[in-house]
Amino acid sequence: MISVDEAFDHVRRLAAALPSERTPLAELLGLRLAESVASSVDSPPFDKSMVDGYAIDVSDASPTLRELELVTAGNVPTETVVHGATVRVMTGAPIPAGADAVVKWEDCELLAEGEIRNPARGVKSGSCIIRRGSSFHAGQVVLEAGKRLGPLDIALLAEIGQAEVGVIARPRVAVLPTGDELVAAHEPLGPGQIRNSNGPMLLAAVAAADCTPIDLGVGCDDPDDLRTRINQGLANDVLLVSGGVSAGVKDLVPGILTELGVEEQFHQVRIKPGKPLWFGVRHANGRRTLVFGLPGNPVSTFVSFQLFVLPALRALAGGPFESAVAQRAVLAMPFEHRGKRPTYHPCRQSAPAAGGVLHVEPLDWRGSSDLATLTRATHLAALPAGDYQLVPGDAVEVIAL
Ligand code: AMP
Ligand code: MG
Repeated sequence: MISVDEAFDHVRRLAAALPSERTPLAELLGLRLAESVASSVDSPPFDKSMVDGYAIDVSDASPTLRELELVTAGNVPTETVVHGATVRVMTGAPIPAGADAVVKWEDCELLAEGEIRNPARGVKSGSCIIRRGSSFHAGQVVLEAGKRLGPLDIALLAEIGQAEVGVIARPRVAVLPTGDELVAAHEPLGPGQIRNSNGPMLLAAVAAADCTPIDLGVGCDDPDDLRTRINQGLANDVLLVSGGVSAGVKDLVPGILTELGVEEQFHQVRIKPGKPLWFGVRHANGRRTLVFGLPGNPVSTFVSFQLFVLPALRALAGGPFESAVAQRAVLAMPFEHRGKRPTYHPCRQSAPAAGGVLHVEPLDWRGSSDLATLTRATHLAALPAGDYQLVPGDAVEVIAL
């Protein structure tokens, strides 16, 4: 059995960024730029009005101004603003030649149809005009390589006319829960059966990690069925199998993975929950597939995913490989730990966090199948192996969920 740190090292070594792919705007959310993006245009592309109003020449001393035309956004002026004249512009309209400021219509006085009192007095040249290139110029880098793209970045790419861009490919992650006892959420429970909670959990966790989940259905504890489904799963970047990786008579998964060419990197980690965790890699047809055999108990599956799978998915997507980021917290309640393995115990932040110090209360957790308690947890406390008593005020390391 290896330590958590050794297990991390195995995963880190094999979790390299995927190749880059030209990808359209609609599919970019959460992906990382493979290259820096320079704009091919000035932003904005022309001098434009910031308000609805009148475009004027501030040096014009005429008492009144005659409206030559109205220009709305998307149209272009045909008239030049000469002394004694103005062009009415709406927000976003290009500024007509001869004008060097726009005055909001609310600040103008309409004297007659098509005639206003000259509002130029005290108005500064350039007022209410957004100048061409005032945000950035053509040739300027607007997004740096490696950036994880959010809605604003996607908006900026659209603005500069970049309809597709090179990003690190979105990892495709196949999910295969296994077990003869599993039925779907919409099915009635027969004797000895339980519902498949890991499948929906893993599909959701994969999507939440900005990867593409691939649902392989539910596998039976039967070599032929597992072989078929695992083979399908191996056509992806990552395969997550849950269940069937311990030492029971129906725990067939490691044997079948090996038979299908997946090279075992480790099996069993000194950790609670999640000890039976299996990890391997297959290289075939120019593709590397990372395979995690996650212990079937839902809490074990979840904790193994958080600790080992999530960092791998981030690295595949071009991000840094970071083990779950640990924070220091202070225990708000006494807690007794017993056991030879480091334990990740669900706990809950006690409100409010006094003086910036995070206080946590260990939850009354009933073990690896107790999903309900985990849904109330905000953190996992990483408790070292051993038999000891912790008291309120003791420092513990926690991982935010
Ligand atoms: P296994 O790792 O296959 O020995 O399963 C360990 C425990 O987790 C057993 O009690 C299983 O019934 C349960 N289990 C396995 N797979 C799932 C699943 N997909 N959803 C909920 N519980 C599961
Ligand atoms: Mg099983």
